[in-house]
Amino acid sequence: MGDTPFADKPLTDRLLRSWVRCRRRAWLDRHGDPHARIYTAHRTLQLDDQQRSFVALLPRKPAAGLSGLAEGAPGVVGVRLTGEGPDGLPLEAHPPLLERVAGSSRWGDFAYRPVLARQGRRLTREHRLPLALAGQLLADFQQSPVGEALAVAGAGRRLEKERLPLNAALQRQLDEALVKLAADLQRLDPPPLAADRRKCTLCSWRGLCNAEAASEGHLSEVSGIGAKRREMLQELGIHGLKDLAAAEPAVLATQLERYGEQHGAVALPLVVQARAQRDGLVERLDQAPSLPELAMAPGVLLYDIESDPDARDDFLHGFVCLPRDQSGRWDLGRGRYHPLLVLQEHGEKRSWLRLRRLLAAYADWPILHYGETESLALKRMAQRQGASDRQLESYKHRLVDVHARVRHHWRLPLNSYGLKSVAAWRGFQWRQRSVDGARALLWWRQWRGSGPLDRGHHQTLRWIFTYNEDDCLATWAVASWLLEQDNNEERSDVTGASER
Ligand code: SF4
Repeated sequence: MGDTPFADKPLTDRLLRSWVRCRRRAWLDRHGDPHARIYTAHRTLQLDDQQRSFVALLPRKPAAGLSGLAEGAPGVVGVRLTGEGPDGLPLEAHPPLLERVAGSSRWGDFAYRPVLARQGRRLTREHRLPLALAGQLLADFQQSPVGEALAVAGAGRRLEKERLPLNAALQRQLDEALVKLAADLQRLDPPPLAADRRKCTLCSWRGLCNAEAASEGHLSEVSGIGAKRREMLQELGIHGLKDLAAAEPAVLATQLERYGEQHGAVALPLVVQARAQRDGLVERLDQAPSLPELAMAPGVLLYDIESDPDARDDFLHGFVCLPRDQSGRWDLGRGRYHPLLVLQEHGEKRSWLRLRRLLAAYADWPILHYGETESLALKRMAQRQGASDRQLESYKHRLVDVHARVRHHWRLPLNSYGLKSVAAWRGFQWRQRSVDGARALLWWRQWRGSGPLDRGHHQTLRWIFTYNEDDCLATWAVASWLLEQDNNEERSDVTGASER
């Protein structure tokens, strides 16, 4: 898979950050085949976010390189710091920004501290250790201690600043991590797949790792198994999908109860799920119709939201209005897409009025969505905007979570019951390949710019709409499969009755 590990290549802050996320990732960063990487918009989003935060933090554009430091510029980018770590390990850091602070250094009566832009709501090890590494190397370079680092988040007036003391305890953690990172990079084979495979969604090595997980029947491939359950199962000698599928549910339940009564209850569902995946079985769990709300409905609204989770901003509420034709068939050809953009400068009230008007125009149409996001967002917005109890009740009645219906009525041979996985299994294809929520978010930020006078190209907005419309149609692909199965069931009941 990779070349021979070289002990003398430096340990970088980037490798360290990868390693904190997943040991295997750091190994692949160094030894993996770069062609196996898949683009992820996550990194671009991060850089975009960083750029905005730094603009908000600094009085002017940062200077570049060592000359910027020597001049005492307020902010400096593009500096490479090197040095030695525990056991003489060669180290290297490229801090995203160095900010001038009071103090003294080799350049005069000022000093610098490392700064990074934090993603997510909290400062984690993934931020702390690279900052500590940059602080250590910077202290040597500027010939004066670096007592703290800074993490910034958000932009404009919302810029949050969090100071991180670079103390002895953090230095110890850093040294320990560096020694372990060096040992991992010396391995001839990559470390195991991440215990919590949710983090793989944002990783550029996911193609390689997903293929490996599928081929080795990794336990995380079984829908419903996260890091904790996997650990328990491994302790019980169950190491892969096949072991789990072969387990006796009653015996496994007793064994799992050792970890708490609630764990025993999942034994049967996990074993049968593993069997469904091993044998490609599709199994009906509840004979009742899965979408009874659609039986007499004149049409449905397919609803999907695009969000910026960090800004807690549901910026697009997309609907496909799908009517029935005169013969009662669902007429996809007459489906119309309605994107409702929620722009901050318009205020929520105006967006709510548009949304309410659209929902009122199709008053007796059920609203189909996949997962909880849409129903929660709609109900919360309605509450904030003072909707009456009757109105709230009516929305509650109309909202139909297709994901919940799939889970309740069917067991599928899939490692995930998410929209992408189930709709793709039904043969649905998104028009824009390799686009995901992160890419749509990136497009959104590019289009939104810093406000109405700084909008991006309208084509960017079209890409977002296409992605969102496809998510609505993917929801329909799953819903129409559920309806088909209900109809088949009904037909077989009728045939059975007439034969009797
Ligand atoms: S895809 Fe997952 S297991 Fe593979 S390197 Fe990335 S985070 Fe680790």
